[in-house]
Amino acid sequence: MMQNKVLIANRGEIAVRIIRACKEMGIATVAVYSQADKDSLHVKLADEAVCIGPTSSKDSYLNIKSILSAAISTGSTLIHPGYGFLSENSKFSQMVKECKIKFIGPNHKVIDMMGNKTRARDIAKQADIPVVPGSEGVIETPEEGLKVASKIGYPVLIKASSGGGGRGMRVVNEEKEFKKAFETASLEAENCFGDKTVYVEKLIENPRHIEIQIIADQHGNVVHLGERDCSIQRRKQKVIEEAPSPFIDEELRKKIGDAAVKISKHVKYENAGTVEFITDKEGNFYFIEMNTRLQVEHPVTELVTGVDLVKEQIRVANGKKLSFKQKDIKIEGHAIECRINAEDPEQNFMPSPGKINGLLLPGGLGVRIDTFIYNDYSVVPYYDSMIGKLIVHAKTRKEAIRRMRRSLEEFIIDGIKTNIEFQYVIMHDPEYVRGNYDTGFVENFLKKANG
Ligand code: ADP
Repeated sequence: MMQNKVLIANRGEIAVRIIRACKEMGIATVAVYSQADKDSLHVKLADEAVCIGPTSSKDSYLNIKSILSAAISTGSTLIHPGYGFLSENSKFSQMVKECKIKFIGPNHKVIDMMGNKTRARDIAKQADIPVVPGSEGVIETPEEGLKVASKIGYPVLIKASSGGGGRGMRVVNEEKEFKKAFETASLEAENCFGDKTVYVEKLIENPRHIEIQIIADQHGNVVHLGERDCSIQRRKQKVIEEAPSPFIDEELRKKIGDAAVKISKHVKYENAGTVEFITDKEGNFYFIEMNTRLQVEHPVTELVTGVDLVKEQIRVANGKKLSFKQKDIKIEGHAIECRINAEDPEQNFMPSPGKINGLLLPGGLGVRIDTFIYNDYSVVPYYDSMIGKLIVHAKTRKEAIRRMRRSLEEFIIDGIKTNIEFQYVIMHDPEYVRGNYDTGFVENFLKKANG
């Protein structure tokens, strides 16, 4: 049998995370990097490293030809796409396969199906999974949208079919705002995703964002690993994630988990994926989308289930059966993740790149840090501002919060601004501590803080 060798088509903390799993499995690794990332930790930790182009993502981490030639010239047998960049690009996954390399992720057809949100909504409906009331497919004209909106009732949300990262989304509170919102949402969608099509959904007020981690092998086995609550978001970007959700009981967990497994089976899903839902106060849940890749927040699931998701991804990509069954998955204790960003909360969260000239990482029982920063490293301004994740695990939610506070207190990053203190303040917010929050939490929190 050919020796496994994994090329990681990504950078930052996730590249480091994947390299670590490979090392423990005795699998050789190949890092790829842009010129701006030559001093990055993933380059140092991998067995081999190939420069794939200049600084801009377009010419490096999104450069399919360059990445494929790096894979071929190093004799890589698998490619892990991480998250972001090419991870949900079906053309990339197809081309990887055409090069006789295994793509650690689902089949390109499934990526295509689930990557388009209106198509994914249709599939959810076919699988009998509740979706947010809204339009049948895309809305071509404001008039058509107005009809749907008056039928489902305001407020509504106009969403980009190819959307991601909260872009191309507009809330419409009343009829007279609709046309303008439709036009700005389409324009933003066209500019961000090259696809101007939008659709309409009812705005669920004060929802929680609940997502289910699933993993599937090539033999039709699909297992879910419980939920993550990602309701703490700023501008639709997740800030804190936790597992289990303080909102979900055993009964609801089973219902949502079963729904996630059902839709995954329906599309013959392979590898790791996340089915995202929003839930309302009454505990109704609605499918919103599926992410056909590993998520930033996967560690909270790993800590409460004991499953190493990256190792399992590699195993199933190699055709092995899942190493566990649904009945083997037990949720133990509580895990919380704080995203650590190089940004200045006092300057409206403006990115704050620069040289790190002092670094102290927290540690101790139940503390995990996934990061690529080190002392003297210069955070570059060209990519995402997330520089790491601090994840804690404890027996109870209360203990996990205490552990997170203690870890944030220990955490020192000098030379750049970060959101560590911001996270620390949230960890003391009485509503957060009570577990009494929804996706509007950060906005309200900032309003309170700014008077
Ligand atoms: P993206 O792919 O851009 O992140 P999502 O569809 O995943 O878009 O939605 C992102 C966030 O927007 C959700 O976590 C939720 O907070 C909010 N959201 C999405 N759809 C609705 C809805 N119908 N009602 C209320 N909030 C919503």
